[in-house]
Amino acid sequence: MVDRNEAESAVRTLLNYLEGDEGREGTNRTPERVIEAWDEIFSGYKGDASSILKATFNGEGYDGIVLLSNIEFHSTCEHHLQPFSGHAHVAYIPVDRIVGISKLARLVDLHARRLQNQERITKSVADDLEHHLNPLGAAVILEAHHGCMRCRGVMKQNATMTTSSMRGVFFDKAEARAEVMQLIRRSEP
Ligand code: ZN
Repeated sequence: MVDRNEAESAVRTLLNYLEGDEGREGTNRTPERVIEAWDEIFSGYKGDASSILKATFNGEGYDGIVLLSNIEFHSTCEHHLQPFSGHAHVAYIPVDRIVGISKLARLVDLHARRLQNQERITKSVADDLEHHLNPLGAAVILEAHHGCMRCRGVMKQNATMTTSSMRGVFFDKAEARAEVMQLIRRSEP
């Protein structure tokens, strides 16, 4: 286990790699700030889906789609430590239990705020919905721009990566899938 001081000194080493070890005012406290920022950016490691989805409510027979769209998220690519960010659309069809709508956004953050790839966030959110809510269907779509493509490598500024995970009725039935896709399109800002 690496403690906070060791983490800060590792950042100091990286700064030395860039600029040498003379140090200067502007970067004096950078190692502390970087680790503070990391605690926030990677706060997903501290949470878990079961506590987010623990409190459910009686759906009172509601059997349509529940969709929270355009959930902005920020994540970090596990290969280059570059940021990637975009929007998530998360939907499910309750069987009898519904969940507070903000919990869907918290679930996205739980997985986004770790070292990630976009495919895994998409799959993990769908897995959690299936596992904890046991819905008739779950649909998760992520659209993101990746720092690793924007500022290095192929240098593409506007390439959008889209990933989707369809479960239950959204996987089995084209009509259900088409309905959720249409609702997502209609909710575009
Ligand atoms: Zn990357």
